Amino acid sequence: MGSTGSIGTQALKVIEANPDHFKVEVLTAYSNADLLIEQAMAFRPNVVVIGDESKFTYVNDALFTYDIKVYAGQEALGQVVEMEEIDVVLTALVGYAGLTPTMNAIYAGKNIALANKETLVVAGELVTAAAKLKGVNIYPVDSEHSAIFQCLVGEWHNPIEKIYLTASGGPFRGKCKEDLVGVTKAQALKHPNWEMGAKITIDSASMMNKGLEVIEAKWLFGLRNEQIDVIVHPQSIIHSIVQFEDGSMKAQMGLPDMKLPIQYAIGYPKRLPANFPRFNFMDYPSLTFEAPDKQTFRNLQLAFDALEQGGNAPCILNAANEVAVQAFLEDKIGFLEMSDVIADCLAKVAFVKKPTLVEYEETDQSTREKAMELV
Ligand code: NDP
Ligand code: MG
Repeated sequence: MGSTGSIGTQALKVIEANPDHFKVEVLTAYSNADLLIEQAMAFRPNVVVIGDESKFTYVNDALFTYDIKVYAGQEALGQVVEMEEIDVVLTALVGYAGLTPTMNAIYAGKNIALANKETLVVAGELVTAAAKLKGVNIYPVDSEHSAIFQCLVGEWHNPIEKIYLTASGGPFRGKCKEDLVGVTKAQALKHPNWEMGAKITIDSASMMNKGLEVIEAKWLFGLRNEQIDVIVHPQSIIHSIVQFEDGSMKAQMGLPDMKLPIQYAIGYPKRLPANFPRFNFMDYPSLTFEAPDKQTFRNLQLAFDALEQGGNAPCILNAANEVAVQAFLEDKIGFLEMSDVIADCLAKVAFVKKPTLVEYEETDQSTREKAMELV
């Protein structure tokens, strides 16, 4: 899901390098029809889905002579994940749109390789409960969560005392609020260590990405809120750390390259050989650590607050953030105003303590309306 994006294209590189291990059944995109067609010709899936229905004829005509079925629209995106031939669904689409396909895939008994963190932020309790019920695994793709997962192999019976999610700090690390007033989207889109899609790159600059990851970690690893901490590590070499009850800490390290966690998630439990560049200690004579600045990067504090509040608060946080990021990318609001929109929505959208899936949908919708008014 989301094969034309940053994670999607890197996943296809992993698959291309391991033709004996993986076969692509389905590819999906939202509007990038040309790349989807190119990928379909190269990987020969059974089905492709283009989210934007107006591009159906274009894609269908291009793939007419290939034995590939073409579907279009949101409903099709939610349905293809149920196909019998599928073992693992890699959810690499962006934002709330990932929730329905992920839930449907789980109910159809498919294992999930989860990049789409927003799904767990919005409805982590429901998603993980459904996975448990259906006996399916959710393999993390997010590098921090992959790191924790890798540290936990062989430790399943040893309780976690604490986890530390590492954060690069993004392009604005060390800045104060005044410095951030007039920053442009071009500056915010320049991440020091990772090349990613636009939404997550803005989230990284505002530290919302780390906030979303804290909530993601809670649900993936069944943690209490106070067991999750964030530490800024500008070199992005240590991808995260688990501390056990004897005080011992395990960390997973490597050069920042999303192909590694993608490959680990879809290849688990195997470590498939790969020729990714290797870490050289002499290139990084010091690895450094700092406390996150939750006052300047208010989004991180807002995410911790939403986590503490529970219920539909993380869903409100996510929807408000999606609208705010889009508005920032369209030059409608400033960088710091994204936090104002999110805080306002958290204060004003109706709180629900134990939401159903329908109530999550309603929360998402009403938050988007409120946030749109604000931007
Ligand atoms: P991109 O924006 O690069 O790609 C998003 C993909 O999803 C594209 O294929 C896009 O199609 C498709 N898509 C977007 N919106 C919709 C929609 N409404 N319905 C259906 N498909 C849609 O994002 P990334 O690859 O950067 O991120 C994907 C997910 O992975 C996010 O949740 C992100 O937080 C997470 N993640 C990403 C990392 C990274 O390094 N990039 C690292 C860790 C997590 P089209 O191209 O046609 O628009
Ligand atoms: Mg991450």
